Amino acid sequence: MNGIVETLGQVRSSLLGVMGFDDPAGWSDDELLAVTVAVEAVGRVVDAARVACAGEVGERSRVELGGERLSTRRGCRTVAELLERVTLVSGAEARRRSALGAATRSRYGLTGEAMEARFPGVASALASGELGADAAGVVVRELDGTRRVADPVALRGAEQELVAAALGSGDAAGDASAGDAPVRCTADELRVQAQVWAVYLDQDGPEPDDERAMRRRGFRFGRARDGLIPVTGELLPEVAAGLGRLFDAHLAPRSGGGFMTAEERADLERNGETRTADQQRHDVVAAIIATAARSGEHPTIGGAAPTVLVSVRAVDLKEGRGVAHADGVEIPVSLRAARQLMCTGGMQQVTFDGGGRIMGLGSPERCFTPHQRRAITLRDGGCLIPGCRVPASWCEIHHVIPDADGGPTHTDNGVLLCWFHHRTIETSGWGIRMIRGAPQVRPPAWLDPGGGWRSATTSPTRLADRVERRPAAVA
Ligand SMILES: [Zn+2]
Repeated sequence: MNGIVETLGQVRSSLLGVMGFDDPAGWSDDELLAVTVAVEAVGRVVDAARVACAGEVGERSRVELGGERLSTRRGCRTVAELLERVTLVSGAEARRRSALGAATRSRYGLTGEAMEARFPGVASALASGELGADAAGVVVRELDGTRRVADPVALRGAEQELVAAALGSGDAAGDASAGDAPVRCTADELRVQAQVWAVYLDQDGPEPDDERAMRRRGFRFGRARDGLIPVTGELLPEVAAGLGRLFDAHLAPRSGGGFMTAEERADLERNGETRTADQQRHDVVAAIIATAARSGEHPTIGGAAPTVLVSVRAVDLKEGRGVAHADGVEIPVSLRAARQLMCTGGMQQVTFDGGGRIMGLGSPERCFTPHQRRAITLRDGGCLIPGCRVPASWCEIHHVIPDADGGPTHTDNGVLLCWFHHRTIETSGWGIRMIRGAPQVRPPAWLDPGGGWRSATTSPTRLADRVERRPAAVA
């Protein structure tokens, strides 16, 4: 190892000297492309060394080593974190390097005898600087998934074929016609070929579908885009079925309705659904999350229910500009979302001085207690908006007069709204007011021009009450 770091330092200086070329704008097309190819060849050598280092860091940080893990000794939770910290690359890049390094490093048996790498063909092509790290990663990712089921000889053959295709050596594939220069394939072309191989290797596997599915199941958050976080994944069929039932339960037209008055039935028909099916499912997911967090049946975080912590500057909130930030999400959340979360989950004001010292802590959360929630449920039944079918247990409690305007956290000031109607209450045009502690709603003008206030509840007990008080002629 002696001197490698110094030598690399010299190579780097020479490279910088060579690369300090004149402005590429002055080159001919051929020159430009030739330099591009040559630079890539240098990069592949460097990439191979990066992957090898990452593989060794990973080996020294393997889980069995416990407190002796290199990553642990350097205060990092994972190999990727250690690599990120020393190389300053992204987490995704660190994970790619360490996965490829693990697949291409030589292994050692229990008695210290050297064994070949998991992907020896990829390893040698990578180390020689012929195969790029992204192409190598493609082969490893696609083929590794089949390792448990594939015939080892066939798997080795597939690896050789793919490496040959990537290098354009062609002989393994046996399809390079004599005299023709073999065509090397790009990493993307290689992926397509590797996927075909993976299907071939896996299809005859003795492994039942179920085990394969267990291994492939997953749920992922993507990178934030346009103010949204994409989710992707593969659900096991029974999990998908369970989720589907929850969607159905909340999105299917309400059956029964024996307690509904004619007026409410008319409301239901008038109040057409404006959301797409996708949007409605999203809102059901929002309610599932809120319900689960509230249920007390999930692990707590620092002794508190696993609810979202959102921070916002008081001045922004007051003036209605700027954004809020939610813990653990990379993009900001809107003030509207922050107000909804505060309305339903409470808030606490923290005052700082100019230097960042905490100067004051306001009175803590103003949340409705479970007792109050039960009482409000009994009074309102479910989401207060006529025609909305979301039941009470899935609703949030809305402060009719906002907490910030002095509205008390009292049953006389709290009503049930589903996630969607709560989120849009400021803009949807629905009015809500409390008359002697009972809620009344007024439809927006577009829905019911000139419509007045009416009391609203879907609580069976209160509806039964109301039916009994009606004149006999109507009953
Ligand atoms: Zn609703």
